[in-house]
Amino acid sequence: MSSDPAWTKRSLVAQALGKVDPQTRAVVPPIHVATTYIRDPDNSYSSGYIYGRPDNATVRDAEAVIAMLEDASGGALLFGSGMAAAIALFLSLAPGDHVVASRVMYWALRNWLAGEGARFGLAIDFVETDNLDQLRKAVVPGRTKLVWVETPSNPLWTITDIASAAEIAHAAGARLAVDSTAASPIHTRPLALGADIVMHAATKVLNGHSDVVAGALVAARADPFWEKITAVRRTHGAILGPFEAFLLLRGMRTLPLRAAAQSRSALALAERLSAHPHVARVLYPGLPQHPHHNVAARQMEGGFGYMLSIQVIGGETAAIGTAARVRLWKRATSLGGVESLIEHRASIEGTGSPCPPDLLRLSTGIEDPEDLYWDLDEALRAAHSG
Ligand code: PLP
Repeated sequence: MSSDPAWTKRSLVAQALGKVDPQTRAVVPPIHVATTYIRDPDNSYSSGYIYGRPDNATVRDAEAVIAMLEDASGGALLFGSGMAAAIALFLSLAPGDHVVASRVMYWALRNWLAGEGARFGLAIDFVETDNLDQLRKAVVPGRTKLVWVETPSNPLWTITDIASAAEIAHAAGARLAVDSTAASPIHTRPLALGADIVMHAATKVLNGHSDVVAGALVAARADPFWEKITAVRRTHGAILGPFEAFLLLRGMRTLPLRAAAQSRSALALAERLSAHPHVARVLYPGLPQHPHHNVAARQMEGGFGYMLSIQVIGGETAAIGTAARVRLWKRATSLGGVESLIEHRASIEGTGSPCPPDLLRLSTGIEDPEDLYWDLDEALRAAHSG
């Protein structure tokens, strides 16, 4: 019998790597809920499973799919949220370590780093990582241990050049970690561009159905730092639950289709909204006028992602008024689901946020893009006249 050809990622993810339950031949693997596993008579654990806090087969099934999508030779780890994943990485650094991070990033993580990071002995500098000169100046050879970039960055969708950031980090003896939530493994593969670790809020497009809170880390190699992160997850009990892992595994089967459709709609919306009489500015890396469109075009494949923001003429009042009037878009926080979401971001991020008050963040779902445009257009016009 000839061996399997090299199936594409789309084929592999559709079948969740083709795992079949050996007992029943079911095409959907069961959800493993056991918290403990039988030890062998010779006192070993030949199954590779000891206890539920570090070991769960359903979690490992979902991790294998994510590692495959990211070409992660070091493997993947799933956590109870995106924040838990990111914080496990920061807790794996040593007191005194210097971190350089994107100033424009998911606000709750920036707040945690600015407020709590110091309590764990980390020295953190926030810079515009889309400006490589700023990044170069902030990194201190020998002292900086981690460069953390989010690209595209929430909620302004600035783009950091991952390959250049990796070069800068590595030249200083630091690792590069990338929050790639808004790109998804479909549109960007940071490890292939030189990053050491990738983080996903799997709550978002990886799962895609707004019914699981989860986080993932993937590693270019299983080195001692990765072992430290694995130990932090094990001791803190930060692993994802088996039912959530099952839902995530189910959601990821359609990731390539969803990500492509959402990204196509986001681009169509960005283009049309750029010409809208009540929109001052559209922030989307797929637009040629985006300041780092060329970098995005180089490092993103098959689209520019599902997230965009608009700045509304008429300021905060008009922006909130627009969000108040939509009917198809859902007025809610979060991103990446099949349903489109709209949010006045400054209201949630509070003071210290780089988010302007006239900004509405749009997470594009899989609805008909004509309907999405029509609904926004009506809301923008109504907010402007009333
Ligand atoms: N990173 C990004 C870019 C996010 O948008 C979010 C959440 O919105 C997170 C990380 C945190 O993920 P979670 O809400 O799963 O903790």
